[in-house]
Amino acid sequence: MTLNTPSLVKADHFINGRWTPSRAGKTFEARSPFNRTLLGHVAEGDREDARDAIKAAASGFVALAKLSPWDRARLCNRVAESIEKRRDELATILALEQGKPLATEAYAEVDAAATGFREAGELIKWLEGEYIPVETPGKRAISFRQARGVYAVVTPWNFPINIPVEYLAPCLAAGNAVVWVPAPTTSLCAAKLVECLVDAGVPDGAVNVVFGPGAVVGDEVVSNPGTHGIGFTGSPGTGNIIATRGAGKPMLLELGGNGPVVVLDDADLDRAAEAAAFGSFFNAGQVCAATGRILVTGKNHDALARRIADIASAIRLGDPLALETTMGPLNNAQVFAKVEEHVADGLARGGELIAGGRPGVSGSGLSYQPTVMGRVARDALLNRSETFGPVAPLVVCADAADLLETANASSHGLAASVFTRDLSQAFAFSEKLRAGLVNVNSASCYWELHLPFGGASGKASGLGRLGGKHTLREITDVKTITFDIT
Ligand code: NAD
Repeated sequence: MTLNTPSLVKADHFINGRWTPSRAGKTFEARSPFNRTLLGHVAEGDREDARDAIKAAASGFVALAKLSPWDRARLCNRVAESIEKRRDELATILALEQGKPLATEAYAEVDAAATGFREAGELIKWLEGEYIPVETPGKRAISFRQARGVYAVVTPWNFPINIPVEYLAPCLAAGNAVVWVPAPTTSLCAAKLVECLVDAGVPDGAVNVVFGPGAVVGDEVVSNPGTHGIGFTGSPGTGNIIATRGAGKPMLLELGGNGPVVVLDDADLDRAAEAAAFGSFFNAGQVCAATGRILVTGKNHDALARRIADIASAIRLGDPLALETTMGPLNNAQVFAKVEEHVADGLARGGELIAGGRPGVSGSGLSYQPTVMGRVARDALLNRSETFGPVAPLVVCADAADLLETANASSHGLAASVFTRDLSQAFAFSEKLRAGLVNVNSASCYWELHLPFGGASGKASGLGRLGGKHTLREITDVKTITFDIT
């Protein structure tokens, strides 16, 4: 059963509270990654459009400053209500344009977005300051957190509703205006989210959206002196460019991962297989905290691989709008090509193909079968770098020490899992794994919106921590005020 495709839409930039075409009049097409159907036309911005949005955001910041934290909390709640009212529209465009299955994943992402706005509205009320004792008689000192001004927010296409909300909601709650550059392949999702902000009565200029190539409009918003902080989620390569172009501005960089799932010899294999399969195949593997590789000793390799392959065989790859589908296509040709390259490289280096390993579903160039590969070489791309696709690669390690060393021998360090029944081993691995998040006995991608999330220092997975009060701290300045009362 499929839902009807909504009629073609046209998405303009959203600048200073108005839908605005590009100055140059250019547009680009939005197409379904499943069957290439034309979904709509999107305004293609250039640096001038981005500068217009930055100028508008300066006045949006002034408007937000006139609201109390309680007013901004109410605004966030109204956005959440609008997201809930438009739940079907948002989930449908998400399935159509991003490619994730409507029934099993798209609605959950929309629900998380509503929660994100509600939580930001709740937490801002308790962002308290300090009364600081001082040495000098007759002096008093306080400090508190203050909005920074205009935030440049640049986001990817894998969770095109919820990742933007991780920045937009705390920025609005804290009083930062935003210029948002969404990933081009999920521009219609962004436009639909903006409709919720409009419903909620967001002040003109408080949130502005400019569509177009990241290297142009994204670069302008991060490098322009009119923005005062940066929120970026995307690849390490782009993160490095942004760190240079936005040098000197406070920045949250949420980058890539290659999540190891470490399965110790005493692990519950059914549980480990279920979590590893979920971590590898959820959102067709296009998750920064995905299970990138499964590390196991020779004792359990075959049994674990068989269990994961059984789970993979039950996945229904197909049209994201069909209610029986549990895995949709990959979002774009680049990610598809990378998955093909990594699988071919794994096979060439002696990996054993246990399931999948090929494009799937006729009629779509971008669907890829859930794939399980055993005995993957350590120097294979699947083990060494982020695949970002539906592949569960198992790597055989000698013993517990080798499991830990192999897990940490990666340039990424975002999320990891360890499976064991032994509490001391659980703690030992959790503490020694070089990752910002370690999930014991659950999937590498388990996370809740208020939990701190980000990369380990010195790895290519980013800077700072997203999540609840942690984001509010990251996007505000500490202001210190002293009083002379003599
Ligand atoms: P990407 O870096 O190619 O693009 C991300 C965004 O940056 C897009 O909007 C793009 O248009 C923009 N961009 C591209 N070049 C730019 C430039 N020079 N200046 C400014 N902006 C620019 O990443 P992607 O392929 O869209 O997303 C996948 C990556 O994102 C993966 O590596 C994944 O792990 C990572 N990711 C990380 C997290 C996290 O929370 N750590 C979450 C989701 C995705």
